[in-house]
Amino acid sequence: MEKYDFLVIGSGYGGAVASYYLSGKGKTLLVEKGRHWKEGEFPETLWGIASLFQKNSLGRQLFGLRIGKGIGVAYAQALGGASVVNYGITIEPPAHVFQDWPISYEDIRPFYDQVRGGLMPTSHPKWSQFDEASYLDRIEPGSQIALENTIDWEKCMDCGHCVPGCNYGAKRSLNQTYLSLAREKGLTVYENTEALNIERRNGHYHVYLRNHKPYKSGRLGQWVSCNKVFLAAGTFGTLEFLYRHRRSMPLGPLFGKRMSMNGDGLAILYNTPFPQSSHLGAPVTTHARLMDHSGKKPKVLTVMSGRVPLSILRHSAFAMAFLSPIVGKKLYLKESLFSYYKRWLSDLLLLHPARGALGHTFLFKLDGQDQSRAVCRFDRMGRAYMDWPDYLQDPIFEFAHSKLEEWAKKGGGRIIPNLGSLPFMKSFGVHPLGGCAMGESIHTGVVDPLGRPFRPNGGVYPDFHIVDASILPASLGVPPSMTIAANTARILSALEL
Ligand SMILES: Cc1cc2nc3c(=O)[nH]c(=O)nc-3n(C[C@H](O)[C@H](O)[C@H](O)COP(=O)(O)OP(=O)(O)OC[C@H]3O[C@@H](n4cnc5c(N)ncnc54)[C@H](O)[C@@H]3O)c2cc1C
Ligand code: SF4
Repeated sequence: MEKYDFLVIGSGYGGAVASYYLSGKGKTLLVEKGRHWKEGEFPETLWGIASLFQKNSLGRQLFGLRIGKGIGVAYAQALGGASVVNYGITIEPPAHVFQDWPISYEDIRPFYDQVRGGLMPTSHPKWSQFDEASYLDRIEPGSQIALENTIDWEKCMDCGHCVPGCNYGAKRSLNQTYLSLAREKGLTVYENTEALNIERRNGHYHVYLRNHKPYKSGRLGQWVSCNKVFLAAGTFGTLEFLYRHRRSMPLGPLFGKRMSMNGDGLAILYNTPFPQSSHLGAPVTTHARLMDHSGKKPKVLTVMSGRVPLSILRHSAFAMAFLSPIVGKKLYLKESLFSYYKRWLSDLLLLHPARGALGHTFLFKLDGQDQSRAVCRFDRMGRAYMDWPDYLQDPIFEFAHSKLEEWAKKGGGRIIPNLGSLPFMKSFGVHPLGGCAMGESIHTGVVDPLGRPFRPNGGVYPDFHIVDASILPASLGVPPSMTIAANTARILSALEL
């Protein structure tokens, strides 16, 4: 049996940062269920992108999809976790967000600087010249701020294709940053390898690994032994792993509760009088930070300029022209009807999407502090789903919709609300958080501030840490990757290894 000091399960922001801190301190193995995707391999057609979604139980596809009550969640499984398919947006949340955490803002603050050095986010050199920057300035003066993305702008082709994967090697995914540094320090990586079972014997953990391709020996599975385990399989992967071990490793009553979608949503102002030609340009580059002071506590809403990948621009222009009269809400006209419908017709006839209605449409990706009221449910196969039937009634969306209305009144265009609010539709998101929330005790959390699961009969499970999105205690209101990385760096720095 192979023996290691440390075993890391999953290679997203939690797993990659943990591997970096562990490598060099002891023999470390990282196992990742997905595979390494190389630049040039990512499909760029509509059907190709659709084929990236999971098709079989081996999880070989890049994306997985879980549709629960009221909400659906897409997640990634690849070496580098979701960093392979995200926009690389890195934002530090405002300090008040940590009021719901068992640690203070001061405890985590220095680790944001530390991971900033590792992730290397920078702003697009031309962000202020893009149409959405001037548009945001017009409708919400003074609120627009450059985004920072983990992208090498010198290599970036401004194709906006970041989510189905970057074919130009411009995205600084974790493979290029933390995992590469960890490998230099001696990290061993098994891709296509899923950690299935865990047992504690004689003070060591024995973990059963299943490879999706046979090992050289022809075996499909093997046991490895290690002193410490770091579970970083992403929110769903971690919940499913722990659910499988619910008898040998029982957890507290908050397991699978208080989950958040991080206020993930989409808002559209369709066919405004203002050009948005940067649909043909860079990935998401601008955002506005808004504060909702209507409740007892202030809540942050992050509004990011959305993007249609260049490769599906024509399909999107046609689809939106076709659907906008059906799904669109109120139209605020700030120009002649002729101009509005001329652009609309141009898209319907597939003429020039950049100059038509889509080229005058503002897509806003929303992240906000929702109330973290989703609950995890498991099916017979042990697959996790998040349920939150009235997600779109969360106060953060009321605030977002009031803003959208205000902007449409100022700037014109047709409001297309979150598609999840339509009959038979779900609200989709990519930021599932929580389910194993950090807390001070088993009455307020599932794990302690060092990610160690509480035992129902007292104490914590030894030498076992969870370090991923599942331990965040509440929504952040900003994209979560940087916080997952900083929280992992905080936990690893506190351990005596
Ligand atoms: C399309 C998309 C766009 C996004 N855009 C942004 C963005 O721009 N900015 C931002 O901050 N956030 C973004 N996010 C969210 C962010 O990427 C995730 O919150 C973050 O990656 C979560 O990190 P993690 O470490 O918890 O797990 P993940 O990154 O989800 O990684 C977990 C890994 O564990 C593996 N795994 C699961 N089970 C096992 C097992 N049993 N054995 C071995 N391996 C296993 C999975 O295959 C996966 O690769 C986006 C997410 C998606 C899907
Ligand atoms: S915009 Fe295109 S080239 Fe730039 S990082 Fe995204 S996918 Fe890569």
